[in-house]
This record gives sequence, C-alpha cells and structure tokens, in this order.
Amino acid sequence: MPLDGGLAEALALLGKVLEAEIQAGCKNRATARGIHAFFTQRFADCGLSDEEQIRARRVLEYLQRYEAATMEDRPEIARLIVRRLDATLAQTGTAASTETRRVRETPMRPAEAAPSIPAEQSRRAESQTPTSPRIPPSSEWAEEPRPAADDPGPAVQPQPEALEPVAALEQSPAAKLPQAASLDIPAAEALGSAARERQRLEQLGLTTLRSVVEYWPRDHYDYSAPVRINRMYADLQVTLVGTLRSVDTRRTANRNLQIIEAKISDPTGLMSVTWFNQPYLLKTLKPREGEQIAVSGKVELKNGRLQLAPRDVEFPADEEAGTNTMSVIPIYPSSEGIAQRWLRKLVRRALSAGAALITDPLPQEIRTRFGLPDRRAAVLQYHFPESLEERDRARNRLALDELLLIQLGMLQRKHEWQEEGEGRSITADPELLGQFRAGLPFTLTAAQDTALAEILTDMGRSTPMSRLLQGDVGSGKTVVAAAALLLCARAGMQGTIMAPTEILAEQHGRTLRALLEPHGVSVTLLTGSLTKAQRARAYLDAVEGRVQILVGTHALIQNDFKFNNLGLAIVDEQHRFGVAQRAALKGKGFNPHLLVMTATPIPRTLTLTIFGDLDVSIIGERPPNRQPVETRWAPVERQAFDLIREQIQAGRQAYIICPLVEESEAIEAKAAVAEGKRLQDEVFPELRLEVLHGKLRPQDKDAILGRFRDGEIDILVATSVVEVGIDVPNATVMVVQDAQRFGLAQLHQFRGRVGRGAEKSYCLLLADPTNPIARERLQALCATDDGFKLAEEDLRLRGPGEFWGTRQSGLPALQVAQVTDIRTLDLARHIAENILADDPTLDAPEHAALAEGLRQFWQQAAAPS
Ligand code: ADP
Ligand code: MG
Repeated sequence: MPLDGGLAEALALLGKVLEAEIQAGCKNRATARGIHAFFTQRFADCGLSDEEQIRARRVLEYLQRYEAATMEDRPEIARLIVRRLDATLAQTGTAASTETRRVRETPMRPAEAAPSIPAEQSRRAESQTPTSPRIPPSSEWAEEPRPAADDPGPAVQPQPEALEPVAALEQSPAAKLPQAASLDIPAAEALGSAARERQRLEQLGLTTLRSVVEYWPRDHYDYSAPVRINRMYADLQVTLVGTLRSVDTRRTANRNLQIIEAKISDPTGLMSVTWFNQPYLLKTLKPREGEQIAVSGKVELKNGRLQLAPRDVEFPADEEAGTNTMSVIPIYPSSEGIAQRWLRKLVRRALSAGAALITDPLPQEIRTRFGLPDRRAAVLQYHFPESLEERDRARNRLALDELLLIQLGMLQRKHEWQEEGEGRSITADPELLGQFRAGLPFTLTAAQDTALAEILTDMGRSTPMSRLLQGDVGSGKTVVAAAALLLCARAGMQGTIMAPTEILAEQHGRTLRALLEPHGVSVTLLTGSLTKAQRARAYLDAVEGRVQILVGTHALIQNDFKFNNLGLAIVDEQHRFGVAQRAALKGKGFNPHLLVMTATPIPRTLTLTIFGDLDVSIIGERPPNRQPVETRWAPVERQAFDLIREQIQAGRQAYIICPLVEESEAIEAKAAVAEGKRLQDEVFPELRLEVLHGKLRPQDKDAILGRFRDGEIDILVATSVVEVGIDVPNATVMVVQDAQRFGLAQLHQFRGRVGRGAEKSYCLLLADPTNPIARERLQALCATDDGFKLAEEDLRLRGPGEFWGTRQSGLPALQVAQVTDIRTLDLARHIAENILADDPTLDAPEHAALAEGLRQFWQQAAAPS
C-alpha cells in the first residue's frame, strides 16, 4: 500500500465518509471543509494515472451534485454513490466493506509530513512499494474514452534506513533496567517492582518475566503519522500534533461534570479537544499553553462539528513522548483500574530487561529457507511496531511458532501411530462389497462411494489408517462405516464403534445388525441397559475373540480390556471426544485401523489444526431423496403446535426440544417432565406423547426411542439428549423451545433429526432473542442448511476459541494465531513436515529448542483448564 493510498483506497474511504454522512443527516460535515474539497485534495494526493483521473473526476462531479442538492435529496444521492462505489470496488476484487474496514484501522497518512516531528521520519522508513489495485475501466465512472496507457505509476520516494527495533528500544528511558538472568525469573524481581506494581502484576496473572514479555497486545492503533486537521473525518483514529492554544474548564449544565476543553491548531485549522472529569489534566495542560502537543484519539462528529475524543496526550518535547501518541500504539488486555499507559511502560521495561534472552526456536537454515524474520525482532515489533504492516509481519511469525508446535505435535503423533509397527492389511473383497450394496434399500451417493474407496484403500495397507470421515448431518456416514466393519469382520478381525451417547450406541447396534447380520456378521451391543453379568460376559467375549463387532459408548475405553484381534476402531461424532479418547480406543488393540466420524462440518482451517494427525474424507452431499428442511425463526407457539398437529394427521412424527437448563441434568430432566405434562394436558390431549431425558434408565430410554421409531409415539418431548445421531426418517417436525439458548452447531444437529426421509420437513425455532449475536445465529440457521457454511459463520460469530466445543478437543490454547489464518497454517504444516522429514524425533541439536517448546506447549494443553 503506498503511503498516500491509491484510488481504490480513496474510494473506499469515500464510502465510509458517505455512510457517516447518511447517519449524521447529510449535513456535509463528516469531513472538514466539505466532502468535495476533501476528496479533491485526497485524489490529488494519490498520484493517479490518467485513466484513474478520469474516474476520479466523475466521482467529484457526483460529490458536487451531492453538495448542491437539498438536505432531502442528499441521502438518495449518497446511497447512489455508495452503490456505484461498491460496483467499482467489486471489479477491483476488493469488497468495499473489507477495504473500508482496513481504511478504518489504517489512518491515511498525509502526503506532506509535518516537518517538526522527528518520529515521522522513522515512520516513513518503512520501505514499501505501491501495491494498491489499479482500477479497471468501469462503465459506471469512466464514460469518456480511455486515454493511451503510459502511466508510470506513483513515484517511489527514497527511503531512509529503518531503525533497528532493539536499538530503538535502547534509546528509550526504560532501557536503564539491568538485564535479567533468565526469562523464567519472577517478573517482580526482574522489574524491581514495588508493592503496588507487584499487586497489579498479580492481578493480571503475570508471574514470570516471560509472561510479561509475551503479554500480547490485543490490538494496535496507528497514531504514527500526525493527521492534519483538514484531513480528518469522523471515526478516524488519529494523532493530532499542533500548538496548544488554550485550555479552559467549564461545567455541564445539568450534571455536575467538569469539562476541560483545549484548542489545538496546526497549519490547516483549529480543533477542539475535550476531556470529561479529569481535573488533574488541567494542571498538566494549562502551564504548557503555546507548546507543541500531541493528542491521540478518535475523531467524532458532535453537534455538526468534528472534534477529537482524546485517548492520550503527550508533549513531543518530553523524553518519554512516543509511547502513547505519534506511533503505532499497542492496546493490551486490561483489567479493573489498570491503565493502558501503565501497561505500555511495563512491557517496555520487561522487554529491555529480557529481550536479549529471547531465542529463536527455529534453526537459521529453516528461517532462511522460508524467509522468516527472527523471533526476537518479531516479539519487539509485535509490541511496538513501526507500522501496522510491520505488526502484521511480526504477528505472522509469532502465530507461525504456535501453529508449528501444534503441527509438529500432530504429525509426530501420526508418525508414531504409523511407525508403531505393522498393522494388518484388510483386503477389500469386491464380491462381498457387491452383495452389501445389493442388500441396501438405496444406492450409495457418489460422495459415499468416494469416501468408502478412500477408507478401503487405507485399510488395504499394512500401515494403520488414521482417517477422519466428515459429513454433514444426514449425509449417510453410518452405512459407510458398516461396509468397512463388514470387510474387517469377514477378514477374520474384530471391529468396534464408539458412540457418544447410550441412545446413539443403541441405534448403531440396531442399524448395524440389520446391515451386517445378513452377511453372517454378529453385532454385540454394550450399553448401560445390560446387567453387570451380561457386560462382563461381553467383555470376555471380546477379549477371547468371540465378538465380531462391538458397539458401545465411552464405557468401552474406561474399561480395562483388550480385544483379541482388533482390526478397525471407529469413533462416531468425534467432536464429542478429544484426542486422548481417540488414542485410548486405538490402544484397545494392536495397531488397528482408526476411523473417526464427525457430523460437525469443520472449516478446513480447523480441520488441519484439530485433526492434523488424521487424513480426511468428506461426504459433501446428502442423499438425493432429501428436501431442504424449511426453517423458521420465532413463529408464535400456537403456529408451531398447529403444524405439528397437521403433520401428525398426515402420518408423520415430531420432536419438541425443551429449553436448555444449565444448572444440572437432574433439574433439566425435571423441567422436561413438567413441560411434557403441560403439552400433553393442555395442548395435545389427543396425541401420544413421551418425554426423553438424560436421567431415565438406559433401558427406559431404549424403550421410548424404540416406540418412537416404530411409530407408536407421535411427539417426542426431549432435552438435548437427542442432539446427536438419532435417525427416525418419519419424523418431519422439529420444534426447539428457547432456541437462543443453544449454540449454532447444536441447533443444526437438532435440525438434522428431521429431513432424513423423502417427506418435506420443518424446523421451528421458538425464540425471542434480544442478544444480537443470538439473533444472527438464528438468522444464519434459517438462511442455509449447509453445515459447512454454518460452521464458517459460527466461527465468525463466536471466535475460534469457543468454536464447536474445540475447548474440549485437547488442543493448547492459541495466544497469537488465528485458526482461521489458513496461509500461516499451511506454512506451519509445510515447515513441520520439512523438519520431521530429516529429524522425526527432533533429536538433532539444532532442534533442541523446538523439542523443548513442543514439550511445554503440549503439557500446557494436557493440564486441566
Ligand atoms: P449421518 O451421516 O448423520 O450419521 P446416517 O448415517 O444416520 O447419517 O444416515 C441418515 C439416513 O440416510 C439414514 O436413514 C440412512 O439409512 C439414509 N441413507 C444413507 N445413505 C443413503 C443413500 N445413499 N440414499 C438414501 N438414503 C440414505
Ligand atoms: Mg451419524
């Protein structure tokens, strides 16, 4: 990005300014001196090509029209311009909204620097080449014929040398601290903290010097280039540098607030800056009238005037100036009563005491090969970057380090599993497969076929398979698993499948029996409804090899038994199980093939992170006989109940999900029973209704579900126990009460209980959410029934930390990296593969730091959070 920005950027800014205008009543005040004058200057700063100038002129004509129009007409003109802008920016391949966002984070730098500010020179040191997208001709703006293209592009100005960050630090007054001996010594000791500081360190959970050095900012504001007053516009984060003309105080009329108002001038104008209720500031500011002052903060449009809502103030003449204004300022996660100023100083001191101790875990050779910056520089720059671009590069390096540790861990595990020794090859018998297919009441979809082929190829090898089978709810994973189990059993080996709930295990037992017994394979079901003796018997049979296929819950891995001859272990609904359980199940036999299945459509980014030790097969389509489930948000209860009645009269069945009660399963069960009674007595006296909840005895759950499946129950009132896996194709209505209390993934799972047959199905979400995120969630659900899209949406809404229960996945928490950062993730994967290819056990001396980092990182993951 060129310092003064290209046309695309100017246009994106225009979009933003117009939005501010529309919001503030189109008074033409979102910029100083009017929008036309502002953009005339702005375009002139861009160094536009001839062709771009034509387009810019067209835009300015529109802006003139805007200014000339009456207040009533302006909004419409503004919107018209915004629409055209969007079209133009879309052609450049940059969505206006993203561009706008970037512009908001990166204040424009004025073309001419304020010469009085020395910091400005180092800011400009950033060597950059202009990369702003050239705008292709657009019929919208460029109606004149295109001139000959002889555009040399904006001239690149000679750039002075960049300051070394370490050197920059040493110039700061904080550098007087002695060097610490190790990053692992207590922070208070390294920093020589007094009582008050010790207490604050404790409050923030900062124990060691390392923890302060790695106390990462959550954001930065770019206050690096002072912005001239005539270039300011609403919402911009700026540093204003000028002369402090006057400081006055007054009180608000109604409330007893003290206001301090400063007037600051620069060569282009005068701006008012006000502080509320900070009387001590008067003492600081008043004596310095007439001096140069720097104020950082946000430009706001108040009562039709632009003014600055100040965040920090410094005097360039002071020694410490530059930590809070006039540079890129870190914003740290904070807590009650702890100021950003204090945090910045603290981190600066920690860096000067400890930066020299930061070592790079990556060998020089790898860094050179992949063009990676040094970690120490990255740490320094991530805290106090010279520019946002530098911040991003630094963050990428730190993020890479985190993701690399994850990838190394994953790949090592995969490697260990495969190297543990030979597994057993299970050859696909085509005749048997043919018979299996012929016995199905449907034809496998192409996606099922592909997934099955991938699985069978893996199983045919003697290296044990480690594969994830991913497919949206209802995509038909069970039958694929069944085929694999069939081949395994007929090859003379045992197979097992582990489900997250009793109900699901019971259902799998039933399905697999129907699919496998005709081919002479027996299925043993291990659930809580067996007596103790029956269970002991089943285990014994498994140990002695009499069981062919064993179906159960996580009780399978809690029990201390080993199969006689386990060939294939399957984990269903993987998102409920973590990495450790996966390993435990696999440990039930001697190098069995492992298949994990999940209905949770995970964005590719997360798949690599969470399931980096697995190969992936995806069933990306649903069977052809399905219709999309009609999903409605917030109908009145009566409408939902009418629909249920109507569908039941037509021979269908329905689910009603009770509100989520978080206190305990017992209370939730009680609430469900009460709700079931209300529905039976007051709403559906004529229908057959049963309540299913987690506190029922296993055999009662089985019985109820069995009767529902056989059509002897019309309405199943249930707690979230029906969330995963239940397959009753005749059920066509899903009503979720208090839907806003459930997460998006869970709601999608509920909806997945219907639409499993050829009949049209409905999902009604009863909800009255006031929380905007909850509303967005429900709207997203209505908008699509594609689980992958929803997964992306959920990731966006909730952030990766809470994504689809990844908290339980046994992965270390990420500090800097975003799991959505696919480029860094891919790079981490690639580098990890490279490193392990030469040194699978990380025993080489140049990998010692990496090996140690890996150990600590995964230890932290294993520790209960
Ligand atoms: P999930 O992937 O959610 O576990 P299931 O394996 O439970 O889905 O399958 C959902 C339903 O779709 C089951 O009733 C199953 O019999 C049926 N089904 C599976 N594959 C097909 C297919 N190719 N054509 C039609 N129906 C299918
Ligand atoms: Mg399933």
